[in-house]
Amino acid sequence: MAPATRSILWFRRDLRLGDHPALLAAMDAASQVLPVFVLDPRLLATDTPRSRRLLASLRSLSKDTGGALVIRHGHPADVIPRLAAQVGAQQVHVSRETTPYGRRRDEAVETALAADGRELVATGTPYAVGPGRIVNRSGSPYQVFTPFAKAWHEHGRPAPAARPERIPWLRDDVRGDPLPEAPAMEAGEAAALKRWETFLHNGLTAYDDERDRPDLDTTSRLSAPLKYGEIHPRTILADIATHSAGRSEAARTYVTELVWREFYADVLWHRPDSAWHDLRPELARLPYDSGDETDRLVDAWREGRTGYPIVDAGMRQLLEEGWMHNRVRMITASFLTKDLHVWWPVGAQHFLDHLVDGDIASNNHSWQWVAGTGTDASPYVRVFNPVTQGKRFDPDGEYVRRWVPELRHLPGRAVHEPWKHDNGYDDEYPRPVIDHDDERKETLARYDHARR
Ligand SMILES: Cc1cc2nc3c(=O)[nH]c(=O)nc-3n(C[C@H](O)[C@H](O)[C@H](O)COP(=O)(O)OP(=O)(O)OC[C@H]3O[C@@H](n4cnc5c(N)ncnc54)[C@H](O)[C@@H]3O)c2cc1C
Repeated sequence: MAPATRSILWFRRDLRLGDHPALLAAMDAASQVLPVFVLDPRLLATDTPRSRRLLASLRSLSKDTGGALVIRHGHPADVIPRLAAQVGAQQVHVSRETTPYGRRRDEAVETALAADGRELVATGTPYAVGPGRIVNRSGSPYQVFTPFAKAWHEHGRPAPAARPERIPWLRDDVRGDPLPEAPAMEAGEAAALKRWETFLHNGLTAYDDERDRPDLDTTSRLSAPLKYGEIHPRTILADIATHSAGRSEAARTYVTELVWREFYADVLWHRPDSAWHDLRPELARLPYDSGDETDRLVDAWREGRTGYPIVDAGMRQLLEEGWMHNRVRMITASFLTKDLHVWWPVGAQHFLDHLVDGDIASNNHSWQWVAGTGTDASPYVRVFNPVTQGKRFDPDGEYVRRWVPELRHLPGRAVHEPWKHDNGYDDEYPRPVIDHDDERKETLARYDHARR
C-alpha cells in the first residue's frame, strides 16, 4: 500500500463542506486532509456579537468534520508552517482571501511556507466571480454599480462544486487548542442551507414588495452565513436559476443585492485603501464636526438616544441583536454623517464592532455610499429624512414600538413624531438632539463648498 500523503485545508471565510473547491483541491493533492482554523488574536480581541457568531460557526464545523477540525490560537504565519511541518503536508489549501488584511496575511504565510519548501494553494473565493476579474474594455475596474452588474452577468460563473461523499480527514495525530465557549445560536452550514431553502420556497416571491420594510423582517437574513462562508453565493445563484420562483422579478432583485456584495468586494480588491479612506478625492476636503459636543451626540447615536424614533430603534436593534435591517442601516448611517456631520469611519467601526455580518467590503463601502464619498453615482447629495423614511417604511410604527419601549403607548404611525402628541414624552423618550431641517441645509452647503 502506498504511504499516506497529507495536505492541510486552512478554513477562513469558508466554514462549510459543500460547494467548496479548495476542499476538493486538498483532497486531490493528498490521501489525508487536516482541517484547521487559526484563531488569530485579532479575531477574539474583543467579545463582540461577530466573534461570538464565529465561535458558534466553528463549533458547528467541528461537528461536521466529526471532531477532526484542529483549532490553533496564534498568528497564522507561525501556526500554519509549523503544523504543515508537523504533519508533513507539502500543500496548504485555502479559498483565496481578497481583503487587504487577508491578502497581507496570506502573503506572509506563503513566504513562510516557501522557506520550508511548501506551498500555499488558493482555489476559489467567497464570491461567485472572483474580485478583480470584471474589468471594462480598457482593462480598468468599474467605478459604479450598474455597468459592473451588467458585466458581471455577462461574465458568467462556474456551477457549484460537488459535495464530497466521504472526506479522508486526518485524525488523532494533532492536538488542537480548546475552542472558547460560545452561546447557543443559529450558525453553521446546515442552518444556512435550511434558512436559504425556507427563503427560496416561502420568502423570495414577496422580496420585491417587502424587502424595504423593517417591521416585516422578511429579507433572507443570509448576510452572516455568507460572511462566514457557511453557504456560497454560487449555491444560491444555481438554486435561483433552476427554481420556478427564480424567474420572478423578485428573484432578479434578490440577485442584484448579491451582486452589490460582489461589487463592493471588487472595489476593495482594486482599491484596498478604500476600506478606511474616501474613494472620491474631491470630497476628501469635506469638513466634519469633532470635539466634546460631537462626542456627546455620537454617544447618543450609538446608544439609540437621538430622539428620532427610527434611528433609535435601529441603533438599539444593533446593540441587542447584532443585526439591523438594510433600510435602517441607510437611515442611521445618513443620520450620523449628514445630521451629525461625523466622518463615516466612526460609524463604520461601530457597525463592524457590533454586526454579526460585519464585513469590511460591504460595510465600509455601504457607509461611503451613504456618506456620498463612495460609489454612489447620483449627481445630488442624498440626505435621508428620518421622519418621512420612518412613516414610509414602518407605516404602522411596529418596528419602532418593538425596539423603543418609551414610545409603545403611541398608536400607529404616531410613534414617528412624538413631538406632535401631548402624551408623546410621557415615558421619557429623549427630545431630538438636533433639528433635521437645519442640519440638512448645513450638509448641502458643506458638500457644495467641497465640490467647488
Ligand atoms: C451602512 C450599511 C452597512 C452595511 N454593512 C454590512 C455588513 O457589514 N455586512 C453585510 O453583509 N452587509 C452590510 N450591509 C448591506 C445590507 O444592509 C445587508 O447585507 C443586509 O441588510 C443583510 O440582510 P439580509 O441578509 O436579510 O439581506 P437580503 O436583503 O436578504 O439580501 C441578500 C444578500 O445580499 C447581500 N446584500 C444585500 N444588500 C446589500 C448591500 N447593500 N451591499 C452589499 N451586499 C448586500 C447580502 O449578502 C445579503 O445577505 C450594509 C448596508 C449599509 C447601508
